[in-house]
Amino acid sequence: MKNIKESYELEKQPSFMQEVAKYNANKDPKAFVLTFGCQQNEADSEKIMGMLETMGYTLTDSENDADLLIVNTCAVREHAELKALSITGQFKHLKEKKPSIVIGICGCMVSQEHRVGDIKNRYPYIDFLFGTSLLPYFPQILRNVIKNPQRQFYNEDLAEKFIAEDIPVHRCDKHKAWVSIMYGCNNFCTYCVVPYVRGRERSRDKNAILAEVRQLAAEGYREITLLGQNVNSYKGGEQGYDFADLLCDICKIEGDFAVRFMTSHPKDATHKLIDVMAKEDKIAKQFHLPLQSGSNAVLQAMNRRYDREKYLSLVSYMREKMPDIGITTDIIVGFPGETEQDFEDTLDMLERVEFDNIYSFVYSKRRGTPAEKMENQIPDEIKKDRMSRLLEKQNEISLRRNRVYEGRCVDILVEGVSKTNANKLTGRTEKGRLVHFDGDASLIGKRVKVKITKAETFMLYGEYGG
Ligand code: SAH
Ligand code: SF4
Repeated sequence: MKNIKESYELEKQPSFMQEVAKYNANKDPKAFVLTFGCQQNEADSEKIMGMLETMGYTLTDSENDADLLIVNTCAVREHAELKALSITGQFKHLKEKKPSIVIGICGCMVSQEHRVGDIKNRYPYIDFLFGTSLLPYFPQILRNVIKNPQRQFYNEDLAEKFIAEDIPVHRCDKHKAWVSIMYGCNNFCTYCVVPYVRGRERSRDKNAILAEVRQLAAEGYREITLLGQNVNSYKGGEQGYDFADLLCDICKIEGDFAVRFMTSHPKDATHKLIDVMAKEDKIAKQFHLPLQSGSNAVLQAMNRRYDREKYLSLVSYMREKMPDIGITTDIIVGFPGETEQDFEDTLDMLERVEFDNIYSFVYSKRRGTPAEKMENQIPDEIKKDRMSRLLEKQNEISLRRNRVYEGRCVDILVEGVSKTNANKLTGRTEKGRLVHFDGDASLIGKRVKVKITKAETFMLYGEYGG
């Protein structure tokens, strides 16, 4: 067993890639990358896949074909960790069937010391492990793994020292692309593990971002989503150059593409940003703005640094500038100390804001966060009851907001064939609503008009060509 500490140099990674590619020549090895978690993890996996292709691997989506298997994990909630651990547990049989398979595990879960210990002790068939900050050094790590059959664990925290550019990317979608613009988080919301597993906030150089977007636009991508744990606290180096300035510069790039971004923090949602959104046609009129709780006491205990009044005033400014804007949010129920009144304040916020959609989570204790030690942890039955009341309220609102679209014509980007009905296509409106309609697969990737004939809570149905 090795805990590796060695020198990492970004400039050397291309030569490690060449070395692995040389080793793989004539072998045609296959690699499978399994991803859990958020869009940032999906974007990271696209980089891992890009590096793997450069190193001579063919990507596969079946673990049974794979010679190399990598699991990119999430740690935001216990459920995500348990899922990753349980699936990883099943790989034991793969290793028994095919002892030559190499299995690695990376991402947020294994950026926590106690999980490194778990993997070392309880998952002996995992060959290597590396934390989030070491992703750019994946070629060096893989080279070491190939050369040396000992198990290897790489967990050095380099998070604050660099941002790596020029990593090859395997884009999984032909029409939509992720562009990470900042990494890490400084906010330390008391429930959240992200600042501990992804390190301090650091922004990419604006010229590197603009070059990447220019390239994607030239390649014909129709939708570009800017990613960051706190995307709107982007700082572009030059005095005062902020996220709104970056959006303005991105919108000057030629091409028929829409810009989206996530995730924003309400404390950094400025009027300047909202004004830019309203002015620029390229920016999709949808804002994902996590509220987390409607109670000022809970927001304070969460260290969110805004209150419900500030949130409501942001929403009214957004709607004043963009009357039809789609607003979505994240809500946590059952934060320690949340009273029935606090929870009712959250329901009240759902009514006042009328979100188009919410992503709701039951509070999950995370090791090392301040909320883990808070008194008055909420019992599971109360959490469950609050979650179902929250969803009931939001379903009512979502249906009400979707019904407005009946009889209207909407523009959508066609994303693919429906998962539930092979004869239907599926796409999203600018505001992020899911639409099903009859149509030919040649429309995938195009922006088309659809007349909405029926609305349900989570779906609009329509006719092509409206
Ligand atoms: N940086 C983003 C996303 C963070 S994780 C943001 O600040 O919004 C995505 C969502 O997971 C959060 O918005 C929050 O609603 C939820 N979440 C984070 N930690 C959680 C925890 N310990 N328990 C339950 N939900 C959590
Ligand atoms: Fe976590 Fe808060 Fe940072 Fe979001 S802003 S990643 S919830 S600490």
